[in-house]
Amino acid sequence: MREHAGLAIEVQPRLATLAPERWPARVVPAHDELLSSWLHRLAFVHGVSPRHFGANLVGEGLGFGSGAWSARLDLALPEFVLNLLHRQTGAGRDRIAAMTIGAAPWRPLLLPVRQARADRTGATWLQFCPSCLAEDENPYFRRAWRRASVMTCRRHRRALLDRCPSCAQGLAPFNQRALLPQCHCAVCGFDLRRAAAPDLTPAARKAAELIDDLIRLEATKGFLQKSALIERISALPSLQNSPSHLKFARLSTLERLRCVARLARGTDRRLQKHLCADRDAVIASWRGIFVRAGGATPALKPPPHRLAWLSPNDNDDRPRTGIGKSRVHAADLRSLLSAYGAVRARRELRERGGSGAYVSSAGSSASAAS
Ligand SMILES: [Zn+2]
Ligand SMILES: [Zn+2]
Repeated sequence: MREHAGLAIEVQPRLATLAPERWPARVVPAHDELLSSWLHRLAFVHGVSPRHFGANLVGEGLGFGSGAWSARLDLALPEFVLNLLHRQTGAGRDRIAAMTIGAAPWRPLLLPVRQARADRTGATWLQFCPSCLAEDENPYFRRAWRRASVMTCRRHRRALLDRCPSCAQGLAPFNQRALLPQCHCAVCGFDLRRAAAPDLTPAARKAAELIDDLIRLEATKGFLQKSALIERISALPSLQNSPSHLKFARLSTLERLRCVARLARGTDRRLQKHLCADRDAVIASWRGIFVRAGGATPALKPPPHRLAWLSPNDNDDRPRTGIGKSRVHAADLRSLLSAYGAVRARRELRERGGSGAYVSSAGSSASAAS
């Protein structure tokens, strides 16, 4: 017991025994939360601004100085910091590591930590959906918002923002000196949840969602490392009528949306043709199914009339007008399944060391990739 000016403070023996090293407040990582976002929330609940938290890491002497200290930890989390966070928060090592970008296969499409250009056309490191932040009990930033192929929020069907609408600066929660939740701009204090939605045409939204569908599908199937999809997406700005030498991930969210909308427009379907081609003919054919369907959801979701056709109670008396369409979808489904089968068979063959068929398909893909 310690007495000071008539006030007695006593450490509860049970708490001191159970978790002598833990930080007192617990912050549960949210779904798809970025490590830096979790660190800023940890700082806030302990009454420390993110900038001071980074500089001192709560008295541990692990000063990360100023600048984008937490954004750098997203990219490479040193083992001793991982151990420290595990020890002090009780969160599992795997759970903490999963919040980093790590070795995500889409890593080449990461937005740059350093702002690409001084003007508004260049990428900033982090995007956000104001409506998602407004719905969060404790506003947090998602890992997916670091990916250049993500330009819209599917939940709210609106474009993401990458700048504070009040001061036009990129987000810098790691530099926040005031004790405010991270949904406030660190430069001007504007509440980012109040940001208005910029215009988003249905065509731009569909084109943007198609691009990220392809990235997610190929990442899930393990194709991204060998396909040319990331290179082809990176080259999209060079296909515009006024070509840009900048890679896709170096453009602001608004510029990327404009770029894909321009390329998807018109009868030449430049975007779709460009995305369908690949140096690997099997992957190109598989991807083509999704590109022609307009994304993963329309390609994989059977339309209602198709479900009706498959119903055991509905056979000969189905309406004539629906037959043609149903056959088209059935053919697409067969193509999809056979493409899946072909890719799996080739992969198994290659893993067993029999590379003949794979080499032959890769060799025949030169014209498709051109
Ligand atoms: Zn949203
Ligand atoms: Zn601002």
